[in-house]
This record gives sequence, C-alpha cells and structure tokens, in this order.
Amino acid sequence: MVRVYLHEVTKVFGKGAKSVVALDKVELEIRSGEFMVVMGPSGHGKTTLLRVVAGLEEPTDGEVWIGDSLVASPRKGVFIPPKDRNVGMVFQNWALYPHMKVFDNIAFPLKIKHMPKNEIERKVREIAEVLGIAETLDRYPRQLSGGQQQRVAIARALVKEPKVLLMDEPFSNLDARIRVTARAFVKEIQRKLGITTILVTHDPADALTLADRIAVLRRGVIQQIGLPSEVYDKPANIFVANFIGDINLFEGSIVGKGGEAYFDGGDIKLQLPPSAARNINAQSVILGIRPEDVVLSRESLPGNNDLIYVGKGTVEISEFAGGKFNVMVRLKNAEIKVVSSTSFGLGDAVDVYFRASEIKIFDKQTENLI
Ligand code: ADP
Ligand code: MG
Repeated sequence: MVRVYLHEVTKVFGKGAKSVVALDKVELEIRSGEFMVVMGPSGHGKTTLLRVVAGLEEPTDGEVWIGDSLVASPRKGVFIPPKDRNVGMVFQNWALYPHMKVFDNIAFPLKIKHMPKNEIERKVREIAEVLGIAETLDRYPRQLSGGQQQRVAIARALVKEPKVLLMDEPFSNLDARIRVTARAFVKEIQRKLGITTILVTHDPADALTLADRIAVLRRGVIQQIGLPSEVYDKPANIFVANFIGDINLFEGSIVGKGGEAYFDGGDIKLQLPPSAARNINAQSVILGIRPEDVVLSRESLPGNNDLIYVGKGTVEISEFAGGKFNVMVRLKNAEIKVVSSTSFGLGDAVDVYFRASEIKIFDKQTENLI
C-alpha cells in the first residue's frame, strides 16, 4: 500500500485569456490504504485531479508522489507515463468495450502487458469472483445490468493489482435505487483490499457514506480536508456548508460579547451559546443551522442547556419523507427548514429552538466559519 501526495499541484488548460485554472495549488495527502473522497460541483477540477494522478494529464506546476516515487514534477523535468504508475482508474462512463465479452474487457490491461494466457485466465477469474461477476464473463456488456457493468469496470481497474484506485463519479450512471447497494459494495471491496483510493463525486451522500476523509474542491481550490463528521459539523465556509448538506442561513449582526453575545437577524434573534460566541470579532455574520438541528415543540420544553429558544413560529409545510418529516416553519418573515421525527399540522403554533452546539457562525465578509 502506498500514500499519494499532491504538492501544490496546479493545472492550467489553454493559454492567455482563454486559459482555465482547473487545479490551483492543490495540497492533498491520501494516506496509505485510505479512502479519500474529493467532492465538488461539476466543472471544478475533480476529473482533472484524478487524471493528473493517473498520468493522463501533466500538471502545470507542483509535484505528484505515489509512494516514494516522484511521478510528476515539471520543475524537475519528471513525468512517469500512466503505464508505469500502477494506478487503476474507473472512468465516469465506465468505458467498457461493447464488442468484447466481459472476460476480455477485464483481461484487457493484462493483455497489453503481454502476460501469459494462463495467468490472465487465473487473474480475471479471481477478480471476477471477488466482485461477484464470475457468471457474467461470457456475456457482452449490453447484456448486464448497470450495477454489473460498473463491477466490470472496477474489475478491469483492479485486475493488474494497482497500488492506487481512482474512481470518477462511479455511481452517476446508476439508478438511485441501486446506488445504495453499489456504495456499500465499493466500500467493502476497498476495505477488503486495503487499497489507497481516491473517489471523486458531486454527490455529498457518496462522500458522507464512503470516505475516511473528504476533500472539498471549489474552482480547483481545496476548501477543506477532514473527516465526514468534521466537514458536515464544522464546515470551513458557507460554500462547504451548503454543498455537503441542507442548512438554514440567516444574516445578522452580533451584539455584545463573550457569554452575553446576541445574534440579531431581524426576524431571528437569539442569545448565542458561549461556544459559538467565543471567537467572534466580526459584526456582520451569517448564522447557520442545519434542519435536523432545529427543534419544534407545541408545548414549551423544560430547561435544556443544549436548546436555545428562538421564538414562536407557525408550521406552513409538513411533508412525510420516510421515517421523518420535512417541515417549514415561519417565524415572522423568516422561513426555517426543519427535519423532524414527529409530524405537525399545517398552521400549528410551535416553539422553535436551535441546538446550541450545532449553531455555526460565519463571517459575512469572508464567509469563513468563525
Ligand atoms: P469536474 O470533473 O469537477 O466536472 P473537470 O476536471 O473535468 O471538472 O474540469 C475542470 C475545468 O477544466 C473545467 O472548467 C473544464 O472545462 C476544464 N477542462 C478540463 N479538461 C480540459 C481540457 N482537456 N481542455 C480544456 N479545458 C479543460
Ligand atoms: Mg468530472
């Protein structure tokens, strides 16, 4: 197993006025055996990052390391071609050869290495067994389900026993219903083989369920690297907060200091818990609270240090969403999204509380978490 290290990697496409900075000084270490998920919106550099690691793209600047080998460094004049990097890549569209049977699709990387026939046979059957597609080897890709085709693409990436596995939005071609199973499967394989893995996706659900750590990319710039829980609970800025999940955001100002700090957002006013108020110097802020951290009650709740009373609201929408309810509460002119375990009736008058420990305060100027 190896670590992968991108040191200040920049990739610029094109020249002059039409150039695009796809990666901007990306500093990212993927530990040996780690499952790293890089997430970001479409067009923000995810595929480019994988292609730079695979050697399908040469960085404009910076260094790429795989284990102890420097595989790309324009300054040092180093560029190791893809075939010598021992990296397996699963492409976004899987890129299976339609006229080849599954066996030959998986065998392809070994054939171009001129491996002896009986060894190819053994390795293909072995990996097909691991991935649960042994019975499909004689079929053509079009005769397989989406989930099976994906497994063939993964088998082809793994058959040459790469040191690193790269996956580009591997679930985007799958029906929502089988995505959950496919994710569990990919996670299990990665665990079983212990292979250093980088998966890129625009889907936060992929990142939250699969990653040992998540890196968030915005316009080629890493915004945050952390455990899924860290990125979700302590997003570095508003972009990350919004991208990884739903969040209510209220603009306002901070009045007072320390233990006596209040947030005044016009419609939404509340006393801040010391934990949130501690480091605030900014006057203009944005308060963030995730829908599941808003608590509604028809009766006032007994004293609870973790719940901060915000005011009286009226339920305007309450939708069943399978085991939970998506509720919209109006508090004066502010609309608050709530995820609740209990249902409410339209027009219900409720007390609105925010979970103190989950309140996030962002600087309005920089949009960074304070
Ligand atoms: P993502 O995978 O996150 O959707 P990409 O890495 O494919 O993003 O693209 C990042 C940016 O680089 C985009 O603006 C894209 O248009 C540009 N880009 C990617 N590949 C090329 C290329 N070969 N030539 C020119 N621009 C490219
Ligand atoms: Mg892409």
